Amino acid sequence: MENHCRRAFLKKALSGSAAMAALGGLFFSGPLTTALAGTLSPAKEAMFYRNLTGNNVRCELCPHLCKLREGETGFCRVRKNLGGTLYSMVYGSPCSVNTGPIEKAPLYHFIPGHQRLCIATVGCNFRCTYCHNWQISQSEPGQVREYDMDPEQIVGEALRRGMDSISFTYTEPTIFYEYMYDISVLAREQGIKTSMVSNGYINPEPLRKLVQQLDAVKIDLKAFDDSFYASVASGSLQPVKQTLQVLKEEEKYFEIVNLVVPTLNDDMDQIREMCTWIAGTLGSQVPVHFSRFSPSYRLTDLPSTPIDTLEKAAETGFECGLEYIYLGNVPGHDRNNTYCPQCSEQLIRRSGFAILSNKVQDGKCSYCRYAVNGVWQ
Ligand code: SF4
Repeated sequence: MENHCRRAFLKKALSGSAAMAALGGLFFSGPLTTALAGTLSPAKEAMFYRNLTGNNVRCELCPHLCKLREGETGFCRVRKNLGGTLYSMVYGSPCSVNTGPIEKAPLYHFIPGHQRLCIATVGCNFRCTYCHNWQISQSEPGQVREYDMDPEQIVGEALRRGMDSISFTYTEPTIFYEYMYDISVLAREQGIKTSMVSNGYINPEPLRKLVQQLDAVKIDLKAFDDSFYASVASGSLQPVKQTLQVLKEEEKYFEIVNLVVPTLNDDMDQIREMCTWIAGTLGSQVPVHFSRFSPSYRLTDLPSTPIDTLEKAAETGFECGLEYIYLGNVPGHDRNNTYCPQCSEQLIRRSGFAILSNKVQDGKCSYCRYAVNGVWQ
């Protein structure tokens, strides 16, 4: 991207700003030049829906396939049937705009150490009982403070702050599909990468279209157990497996996170079954993060995950052939680092979300030249 093109785009993106708005929203980390609170964008017609008889519609974005009568809103709370047309009620209305390291996603093999602009709107198509962001994920439009920022302003903000990428995260990004898609197209034109941090609960057709615009994806594989999905998340396992298979088919870079919750999904036989499936179906080079649960939202009667449970999960994953396994939410643990699967040398040393050293060169181990799965530049 030529610098003068970026400058011209930035000037245009900022030209609509009437004033420097100092905003202190839920996740805002500082003043935003372009955000104007309280002047929310109008709804945008949704993609991926079908008109039914009468003024009914069926949303075909995610596996819930909500059938909506006039005036009704979907399970995700952000897609609404108005007069027989389905609208996204959150297009251009983020509730969170923040910056942070890509390691926090976590995406460990996606240009390590870079800073990203993080975007979220309210809403989610899951109801996870342990959600850490439930104040926004389980809200409707208008229930928390939202900002008026069209895709051009978001990309302009990323450029102004010198961000290398934009992440769609915190809540479930697929429910603000149209907004995410338009931002991603624009970001790519400006040489900015994008990533999605998702529960993977999306139908294949919209997913295939979306991933053409994204550079990396993180999928929460919450458990390898349909009853867990039903009781804890109000979803189901099969569509998430399908999403992972589509990502592989589309050759999109992705990592997997499994939050290990004591007594609910910490059975090692189940973890072995999951790791065997990942290695056999998706490939042994997919990075897998076993993350530590801590009590939150409606799930406060369980303890934090013991570290040795996470270590056993990692051992199990290695036995199944997985090459890159990390422990999440365990600062200082050796399993935050990356090791070469071939020569065992330490490749990336991490401290918290910081990169202390990186021995991956041109996508390869600098000691033995083993190709390391990831996006490295
Ligand atoms: S995206 Fe929302 S409205 Fe559409 S099917 Fe899923 S939950 Fe229902």
